[in-house]
Amino acid sequence: RAKELGRNTYQFFTREMSQEIQRRVDLEIKLRGAASAGQLQLAYQPKVSLKDGCISGCEALLRWHHPELGVVSPGQFIPIAEDSGLIVPIGDWVLRTACMQARAWMDAGLPPLCVAVNISVRQFLQQDVVAWVARTLQETGLPPAWLELELTESLIAEDIEQVTATTNQLKSMGVKLSIDDFGTGYSSLSYLKRFRVDTLKIDQSFVRNMLSDIEDETIVLAVISLAHNLKFRVIAEGVETEQHCRFLQLNGCDEIQGYYFSKPVTAAELEAMLRDGRQLPLRLDSAERR
Ligand code: C2E
Ligand code: MG
Ligand code: MG
Ligand code: MG
Repeated sequence: RAKELGRNTYQFFTREMSQEIQRRVDLEIKLRGAASAGQLQLAYQPKVSLKDGCISGCEALLRWHHPELGVVSPGQFIPIAEDSGLIVPIGDWVLRTACMQARAWMDAGLPPLCVAVNISVRQFLQQDVVAWVARTLQETGLPPAWLELELTESLIAEDIEQVTATTNQLKSMGVKLSIDDFGTGYSSLSYLKRFRVDTLKIDQSFVRNMLSDIEDETIVLAVISLAHNLKFRVIAEGVETEQHCRFLQLNGCDEIQGYYFSKPVTAAELEAMLRDGRQLPLRLDSAERR
């Protein structure tokens, strides 16, 4: 009996596992044709300065609208794109589209806006990543200073010499670099001395509970001071409430990004915000700041 039960349990798990594999294979096949079928889109989420409340930049976030599946979230398909290598052609589409959009905003006479693009480890380790970025900037006519690449701490697990050389070349080109989801990796902090990045992005998991959880609060404050002591800027992601915003402003965080100001929106919607001069209402004058 025990044997039977054991066998059934075993079969149950393998069925679940094979369904999961089937699901991934199926998604991968659909994803393969997504770019050419026009199913990919970028959403743009504004980043806002806590100094003056103005929109200081935006992050391009990939959206996949499949005719049968509906909207598939990046959390579901980015890992599949990474494992299958599809992230390379898809990432090329993302970078090109984001740069073209930023250039179009410049041409429309809007205040220059730095557009941030997420780059997976797999993309960053391509042989010609520097040439790829340079070529895309040149072909779209976007000045390098208006492009930011969001990298993750998982790069530290890779060939550190190669990663350092690549970040240095991108920096000398004038491109901005940031570390996304900062604090969630398992890296040592010493890499911060070698990677010449501009900005640390405090992960939203710390921001979410920083007003009720003393550990999260401590981490957020520590990252702000670490960033500033190393002469980096610091932005908090996942800022959802006025209280979040106020706390971060009081503690000297430079920028915020999150639903409190705006969810990711279409290019047209972001353009309308820029034209309207939409700002974050900041209640504090600078004298109140610590
Ligand atoms: P991320 O780069 O850390 O992006 C921030 C995520 O937080 C986005 O989720 C955004 O919609 C969400 N978010 C923004 N504000 C708030 C808020 O106030 N509250 C909450 N709860 N969430 C908020 P999204 O768009 O689902 O993207 C998830 C992840 O997928 C991204 O995390 C990024 O790692 C990856 N991703 C998205 N687009 C691309 C891409 O073009 N290339 C690559 N390689 N990765 C991408
Ligand atoms: Mg990001
Ligand atoms: Mg993030
Ligand atoms: Mg993330």
